Amino acid sequence: MKEKLERLKKEVLEKLNAVKDIGILRDLEIKIMGRKGELTEILRQLNELSLEQKKSIGKFANDIKLELAERFKQAAEILEKEKKHAFVDLTLPGEGIRRGHLHPLTQVQNEFEDIFSSLGFMILDGPELESDYFNFEALNITKLHPARDMQDTFYVARTHADSTGTDADKTATDLVMRTHTSPVQIRAMKKYGAPLRCIVPGRCFRSEATDVRHEHTLNQIEGLMIDKDISWADMKGVLEAVVRRLYGSETKLRMRPKFYPFVEPGNNGEITCFLCKGVGCRLCKQSGWLEIVGSGMVHPKVLVAGGIDPKIYQGFAFGFGLDRLAMLKYNISDIRLLNGGDLRFLEQF
Ligand SMILES: [Zn+2]
Repeated sequence: MKEKLERLKKEVLEKLNAVKDIGILRDLEIKIMGRKGELTEILRQLNELSLEQKKSIGKFANDIKLELAERFKQAAEILEKEKKHAFVDLTLPGEGIRRGHLHPLTQVQNEFEDIFSSLGFMILDGPELESDYFNFEALNITKLHPARDMQDTFYVARTHADSTGTDADKTATDLVMRTHTSPVQIRAMKKYGAPLRCIVPGRCFRSEATDVRHEHTLNQIEGLMIDKDISWADMKGVLEAVVRRLYGSETKLRMRPKFYPFVEPGNNGEITCFLCKGVGCRLCKQSGWLEIVGSGMVHPKVLVAGGIDPKIYQGFAFGFGLDRLAMLKYNISDIRLLNGGDLRFLEQF
Protein backbone atom coordinates (compact mmCIF):
# COMPACT_ATOMS: atom_id res chain seq x y z
CA MET A 1 0.00 0.00 0.00
CA LYS A 2 2.81 2.41 0.95
CA GLU A 3 4.61 1.63 -2.29
CA LYS A 4 1.47 2.27 -4.28
CA LEU A 5 1.09 5.68 -2.63
CA GLU A 6 4.75 6.57 -3.16
CA ARG A 7 4.51 5.65 -6.82
CA LEU A 8 1.39 7.71 -7.35
CA LYS A 9 2.91 10.73 -5.57
CA LYS A 10 6.04 10.55 -7.75
CA GLU A 11 3.98 10.28 -10.92
CA VAL A 12 1.77 13.22 -9.96
CA LEU A 13 4.67 15.49 -9.04
CA GLU A 14 6.32 14.77 -12.40
CA LYS A 15 3.15 15.64 -14.24
CA LEU A 16 2.69 18.81 -12.19
CA ASN A 17 6.14 20.00 -13.22
CA ALA A 18 5.32 19.50 -16.87
CA VAL A 19 1.81 20.91 -17.04
CA LYS A 20 1.56 24.32 -18.72
CA ASP A 21 -2.17 24.76 -19.09
CA ILE A 22 -4.64 25.51 -16.32
CA GLY A 23 -7.34 23.42 -17.97
CA ILE A 24 -5.11 20.35 -18.16
CA LEU A 25 -4.10 20.94 -14.52
CA ARG A 26 -7.74 20.96 -13.42
CA ASP A 27 -8.40 17.74 -15.33
CA LEU A 28 -5.40 16.11 -13.69
CA GLU A 29 -6.56 17.24 -10.26
CA ILE A 30 -9.95 15.64 -10.78
CA LYS A 31 -8.31 12.46 -12.11
CA ILE A 32 -6.20 12.08 -8.94
CA MET A 33 -8.03 13.86 -6.13
CA GLY A 34 -11.64 13.77 -7.35
CA ARG A 35 -14.41 11.63 -5.92
CA LYS A 36 -13.46 8.79 -8.23
CA GLY A 37 -9.80 9.82 -8.48
CA GLU A 38 -6.85 7.43 -8.22
CA LEU A 39 -5.77 8.65 -4.79
CA THR A 40 -9.29 8.56 -3.47
CA GLU A 41 -9.65 4.96 -4.60
CA ILE A 42 -6.47 3.95 -2.75
CA LEU A 43 -7.60 5.71 0.40
CA ARG A 44 -10.92 3.91 0.18
CA GLN A 45 -9.08 0.59 0.27
CA LEU A 46 -7.71 1.56 3.70
CA ASN A 47 -11.08 0.62 5.16
CA GLU A 48 -10.47 -3.00 4.30
CA LEU A 49 -7.24 -3.16 6.33
CA SER A 50 -6.96 -4.38 9.90
CA LEU A 51 -6.95 -1.83 12.69
CA GLU A 52 -3.20 -2.23 13.17
CA GLN A 53 -2.41 -1.74 9.50
CA LYS A 54 -4.67 1.27 9.43
CA LYS A 55 -2.71 2.84 12.29
CA SER A 56 0.64 2.40 10.60
CA ILE A 57 -0.42 3.52 7.14
CA GLY A 58 -3.27 5.96 7.86
CA LYS A 59 -1.16 8.97 8.79
CA PHE A 60 1.23 8.30 5.93
CA ALA A 61 -1.64 8.25 3.41
CA ASN A 62 -3.21 11.36 4.82
CA ASP A 63 0.07 13.28 4.66
CA ILE A 64 0.42 12.38 0.99
CA LYS A 65 -3.12 13.55 0.34
CA LEU A 66 -2.45 16.89 2.05
CA GLU A 67 0.84 17.36 0.27
CA LEU A 68 -0.61 16.68 -3.17
CA ALA A 69 -3.53 19.02 -2.52
CA GLU A 70 -1.04 21.75 -1.60
CA ARG A 71 1.05 21.06 -4.72
CA PHE A 72 -2.01 21.30 -6.97
CA LYS A 73 -2.90 24.63 -5.37
CA GLN A 74 0.61 26.02 -5.90
CA ALA A 75 0.75 24.86 -9.52
CA ALA A 76 -2.61 26.52 -10.24
CA GLU A 77 -1.44 29.80 -8.69
CA ILE A 78 1.71 29.80 -10.80
CA LEU A 79 -0.18 29.12 -14.00
CA GLU A 80 -2.75 31.86 -13.24
CA LYS A 81 0.06 34.34 -12.64
CA GLU A 82 1.79 33.39 -15.88
CA LYS A 83 -1.45 33.77 -17.76
CA LYS A 84 -1.79 37.36 -16.52
CA HIS A 85 1.68 38.23 -17.72
CA ALA A 86 1.37 36.30 -20.95
CA PHE A 87 3.03 37.95 -23.89
CA VAL A 88 0.64 39.65 -26.31
CA ASP A 89 1.97 40.24 -29.80
CA LEU A 90 0.36 43.49 -30.84
CA THR A 91 1.72 43.18 -34.38
CA LEU A 92 -0.37 40.08 -35.12
CA PRO A 93 -3.46 40.75 -37.25
CA GLY A 94 -6.59 40.94 -35.09
CA GLU A 95 -9.77 38.97 -35.48
CA GLY A 96 -11.65 40.66 -38.32
CA ILE A 97 -14.98 42.38 -37.65
CA ARG A 98 -17.38 42.05 -40.54
CA ARG A 99 -18.61 45.45 -41.58
CA GLY A 100 -22.10 45.93 -42.92
CA HIS A 101 -23.24 48.51 -45.43
CA LEU A 102 -26.32 50.47 -46.38
CA HIS A 103 -29.27 48.69 -47.97
CA PRO A 104 -29.56 49.36 -51.74
CA LEU A 105 -32.83 51.22 -51.13
CA THR A 106 -31.13 53.47 -48.57
CA GLN A 107 -28.28 54.13 -50.98
CA VAL A 108 -30.70 55.28 -53.69
CA GLN A 109 -32.69 57.31 -51.16
CA ASN A 110 -29.56 59.07 -49.91
CA GLU A 111 -28.62 59.96 -53.48
CA PHE A 112 -32.07 61.50 -53.96
CA GLU A 113 -31.96 63.41 -50.71
CA ASP A 114 -28.59 64.91 -51.67
CA ILE A 115 -29.91 66.13 -55.02
CA PHE A 116 -33.11 67.63 -53.62
CA SER A 117 -31.36 69.21 -50.63
CA SER A 118 -29.07 70.98 -53.08
CA LEU A 119 -32.20 72.34 -54.81
CA GLY A 120 -33.52 73.73 -51.51
CA PHE A 121 -36.10 71.04 -50.71
CA MET A 122 -36.80 70.04 -47.10
CA ILE A 123 -36.79 66.33 -46.29
CA LEU A 124 -39.93 65.41 -44.34
CA ASP A 125 -41.35 62.36 -42.66
CA GLY A 126 -44.89 61.33 -41.81
CA PRO A 127 -46.86 58.58 -40.05
CA GLU A 128 -47.15 55.18 -41.72
CA LEU A 129 -50.47 54.55 -40.00
CA GLU A 130 -52.55 57.36 -41.46
CA SER A 131 -56.14 58.54 -41.21
CA ASP A 132 -58.47 57.81 -44.11
CA TYR A 133 -58.87 61.57 -44.41
CA PHE A 134 -55.19 62.38 -45.00
CA ASN A 135 -54.55 59.32 -47.15
CA PHE A 136 -57.60 59.68 -49.41
CA GLU A 137 -60.18 62.40 -48.76
CA ALA A 138 -57.85 65.39 -48.54
CA LEU A 139 -56.12 64.21 -51.71
CA ASN A 140 -59.35 64.38 -53.67
CA ILE A 141 -59.97 60.64 -53.46
CA THR A 142 -63.51 60.52 -52.09
CA LYS A 143 -65.13 57.48 -50.50
CA LEU A 144 -66.50 56.03 -53.73
CA HIS A 145 -63.66 57.13 -55.99
CA PRO A 146 -62.43 54.27 -58.23
CA ALA A 147 -58.82 55.19 -57.37
CA ARG A 148 -59.42 53.54 -54.01
CA ASP A 149 -59.59 50.21 -55.77
CA MET A 150 -56.13 50.72 -57.23
CA GLN A 151 -54.74 51.49 -53.81
CA ASP A 152 -56.46 48.87 -51.69
CA THR A 153 -54.71 48.76 -48.37
CA PHE A 154 -54.84 47.50 -44.82
CA TYR A 155 -57.61 49.13 -42.82
CA VAL A 156 -57.19 49.40 -39.08
CA ALA A 157 -60.32 49.85 -36.99
CA ARG A 158 -60.36 53.03 -34.94
CA THR A 159 -61.80 52.70 -31.47
CA HIS A 160 -63.60 55.57 -29.81
CA ALA A 161 -60.75 56.14 -27.35
CA ASP A 162 -58.34 56.75 -30.24
CA SER A 163 -60.40 59.59 -31.69
CA THR A 164 -58.17 62.35 -30.40
CA GLY A 165 -57.12 63.87 -33.73
CA THR A 166 -57.76 67.47 -34.62
CA ASP A 167 -60.02 69.23 -37.19
CA ALA A 168 -60.74 67.17 -40.21
CA ASP A 169 -58.79 64.26 -38.77
CA LYS A 170 -61.74 63.74 -36.42
CA THR A 171 -64.06 63.03 -39.31
CA ALA A 172 -62.06 59.93 -40.15
CA THR A 173 -63.69 56.65 -39.33
CA ASP A 174 -60.78 54.42 -40.22
CA LEU A 175 -57.05 54.33 -39.97
CA VAL A 176 -55.17 52.90 -42.91
CA MET A 177 -51.62 51.86 -43.57
CA ARG A 178 -50.79 54.72 -45.94
CA THR A 179 -50.92 53.71 -49.61
CA HIS A 180 -48.60 56.51 -50.72
CA THR A 181 -46.43 59.23 -49.22
CA SER A 182 -48.86 61.88 -50.53
CA PRO A 183 -50.72 62.44 -47.22
CA VAL A 184 -47.55 64.20 -46.04
CA GLN A 185 -48.29 66.83 -48.72
CA ILE A 186 -51.36 67.87 -46.72
CA ARG A 187 -49.50 67.67 -43.40
CA ALA A 188 -46.65 69.80 -44.80
CA MET A 189 -48.98 72.46 -46.23
CA LYS A 190 -50.84 72.72 -42.92
CA LYS A 191 -47.62 73.00 -40.97
CA TYR A 192 -45.44 75.21 -43.17
CA GLY A 193 -47.91 76.98 -45.51
CA ALA A 194 -46.68 78.45 -48.80
CA PRO A 195 -44.19 78.81 -50.37
CA LEU A 196 -43.06 75.24 -49.80
CA ARG A 197 -40.48 72.85 -51.17
CA CYS A 198 -40.21 69.37 -49.70
CA ILE A 199 -39.58 65.73 -50.46
CA VAL A 200 -40.93 62.81 -48.45
CA PRO A 201 -39.20 59.46 -48.66
CA GLY A 202 -41.03 56.63 -46.93
CA ARG A 203 -42.69 53.25 -46.79
CA CYS A 204 -46.17 52.65 -48.14
CA PHE A 205 -48.46 49.64 -48.02
CA ARG A 206 -50.92 48.02 -50.36
CA SER A 207 -52.96 44.89 -50.26
CA GLU A 208 -51.16 43.28 -53.21
CA ALA A 209 -50.95 39.72 -54.40
CA THR A 210 -47.15 39.76 -54.48
CA ASP A 211 -45.10 38.78 -57.50
CA VAL A 212 -41.79 39.89 -59.06
CA ARG A 213 -43.14 43.39 -59.68
CA HIS A 214 -45.57 43.85 -56.79
CA GLU A 215 -44.94 43.96 -53.07
CA HIS A 216 -47.20 44.78 -50.11
CA THR A 217 -44.58 47.15 -48.72
CA LEU A 218 -43.18 49.67 -51.15
CA ASN A 219 -40.99 52.75 -50.92
CA GLN A 220 -41.76 56.10 -52.49
CA ILE A 221 -40.20 59.50 -52.69
CA GLU A 222 -42.84 62.16 -52.82
CA GLY A 223 -42.10 65.75 -53.77
CA LEU A 224 -44.01 69.01 -53.55
CA MET A 225 -43.24 72.56 -54.61
CA ILE A 226 -45.67 75.42 -54.03
CA ASP A 227 -45.14 79.07 -54.81
CA LYS A 228 -46.60 81.95 -56.80
CA ASP A 229 -46.47 81.59 -60.60
CA ILE A 230 -45.45 77.94 -60.61
CA SER A 231 -46.13 76.33 -63.97
CA TRP A 232 -45.75 73.02 -65.78
CA ALA A 233 -42.42 74.35 -67.11
CA ASP A 234 -41.05 74.60 -63.56
CA MET A 235 -42.05 71.01 -62.92
CA LYS A 236 -40.37 69.74 -66.06
CA GLY A 237 -37.28 71.82 -65.31
CA VAL A 238 -36.88 70.45 -61.79
CA LEU A 239 -37.53 66.82 -62.76
CA GLU A 240 -35.18 67.09 -65.74
CA ALA A 241 -32.44 68.47 -63.54
CA VAL A 242 -32.93 65.58 -61.14
CA VAL A 243 -32.90 62.76 -63.70
CA ARG A 244 -29.82 64.27 -65.36
CA ARG A 245 -28.02 64.27 -62.03
CA LEU A 246 -29.07 60.66 -61.56
CA TYR A 247 -28.53 59.22 -65.01
CA GLY A 248 -26.23 61.63 -66.88
CA SER A 249 -26.55 64.95 -68.72
CA GLU A 250 -27.71 63.32 -71.98
CA THR A 251 -30.88 61.97 -70.34
CA LYS A 252 -34.14 63.19 -71.88
CA LEU A 253 -37.46 63.41 -70.04
CA ARG A 254 -40.80 63.06 -71.79
CA MET A 255 -44.19 63.51 -70.20
CA ARG A 256 -47.44 61.91 -71.25
CA PRO A 257 -50.88 62.52 -69.75
CA LYS A 258 -51.94 60.27 -66.92
CA PHE A 259 -54.73 60.52 -64.40
CA TYR A 260 -54.08 60.95 -60.70
CA PRO A 261 -56.94 62.35 -58.56
CA PHE A 262 -54.70 64.77 -56.64
CA VAL A 263 -53.24 66.59 -59.65
CA GLU A 264 -54.67 68.33 -62.68
CA PRO A 265 -53.27 67.85 -65.23
CA GLY A 266 -51.29 64.75 -64.34
CA ASN A 267 -48.62 62.98 -66.27
CA ASN A 268 -46.32 60.04 -66.51
CA GLY A 269 -42.63 60.91 -66.80
CA GLU A 270 -40.33 58.68 -68.83
CA ILE A 271 -36.60 59.03 -69.32
CA THR A 272 -34.40 57.76 -72.12
CA CYS A 273 -33.13 54.33 -71.09
CA PHE A 274 -29.77 54.78 -69.35
CA LEU A 275 -28.59 51.37 -70.53
CA CYS A 276 -29.15 51.65 -74.30
CA LYS A 277 -29.39 55.47 -74.46
CA GLY A 278 -32.78 55.24 -76.15
CA VAL A 279 -31.91 52.69 -78.84
CA GLY A 280 -33.94 49.87 -77.27
CA CYS A 281 -32.86 46.98 -75.07
CA ARG A 282 -34.15 44.33 -72.69
CA LEU A 283 -34.31 46.74 -69.73
CA CYS A 284 -36.60 49.19 -71.54
CA LYS A 285 -38.44 46.39 -73.39
CA GLN A 286 -37.08 47.76 -76.71
CA SER A 287 -38.97 51.04 -76.28
CA GLY A 288 -35.94 53.20 -75.44
CA TRP A 289 -37.89 54.77 -72.54
CA LEU A 290 -38.19 53.97 -68.85
CA GLU A 291 -41.26 54.98 -66.85
CA ILE A 292 -39.83 56.58 -63.76
CA VAL A 293 -41.94 59.32 -62.18
CA GLY A 294 -45.59 60.32 -61.84
CA SER A 295 -46.30 64.02 -61.47
CA GLY A 296 -48.70 66.85 -62.08
CA MET A 297 -49.93 70.26 -61.04
CA VAL A 298 -51.48 70.10 -57.57
CA HIS A 299 -55.29 69.98 -57.74
CA PRO A 300 -56.90 73.16 -56.33
CA LYS A 301 -58.99 71.03 -53.94
CA VAL A 302 -55.80 69.57 -52.48
CA LEU A 303 -54.36 73.05 -51.93
CA VAL A 304 -57.56 74.07 -50.16
CA ALA A 305 -57.36 70.94 -47.96
CA GLY A 306 -53.85 72.03 -47.04
CA GLY A 307 -55.08 75.51 -46.12
CA ILE A 308 -53.54 77.25 -49.14
CA ASP A 309 -55.41 79.65 -51.43
CA PRO A 310 -55.26 78.26 -55.01
CA LYS A 311 -55.98 81.72 -56.42
CA ILE A 312 -52.61 82.92 -55.09
CA TYR A 313 -50.46 79.81 -55.12
CA GLN A 314 -49.90 76.93 -57.50
CA GLY A 315 -47.68 73.95 -57.21
CA PHE A 316 -46.57 70.67 -58.61
CA ALA A 317 -46.14 67.27 -57.00
CA PHE A 318 -44.31 64.15 -58.07
CA GLY A 319 -43.62 60.63 -56.86
CA PHE A 320 -40.77 58.26 -57.62
CA GLY A 321 -40.93 54.57 -56.81
CA LEU A 322 -37.78 53.95 -54.83
CA ASP A 323 -37.96 50.19 -55.31
CA ARG A 324 -38.20 50.57 -59.06
CA LEU A 325 -35.27 53.00 -59.13
CA ALA A 326 -33.11 50.59 -57.12
CA MET A 327 -34.20 47.68 -59.31
CA LEU A 328 -33.28 49.59 -62.47
CA LYS A 329 -30.01 50.82 -61.06
CA TYR A 330 -28.79 47.45 -59.79
CA ASN A 331 -30.59 45.26 -62.36
CA ILE A 332 -32.67 43.49 -59.69
CA SER A 333 -35.28 41.22 -61.23
CA ASP A 334 -37.57 40.55 -58.25
CA ILE A 335 -38.91 43.33 -56.00
CA ARG A 336 -39.43 40.85 -53.14
CA LEU A 337 -35.67 40.50 -52.74
CA LEU A 338 -35.49 44.06 -51.39
CA ASN A 339 -37.40 43.26 -48.20
CA GLY A 340 -36.43 39.59 -48.05
CA GLY A 341 -33.52 40.05 -45.66
CA ASP A 342 -31.46 37.45 -47.52
CA LEU A 343 -27.76 38.15 -46.89
CA ARG A 344 -26.72 36.36 -50.09
CA PHE A 345 -28.63 39.11 -51.91
CA LEU A 346 -27.79 42.08 -49.70
CA GLU A 347 -24.07 41.42 -49.61
CA GLN A 348 -23.85 42.10 -53.34
CA PHE A 349 -24.27 45.86 -52.92
ZN1 LIG B 1 -32.91 50.36 -73.08
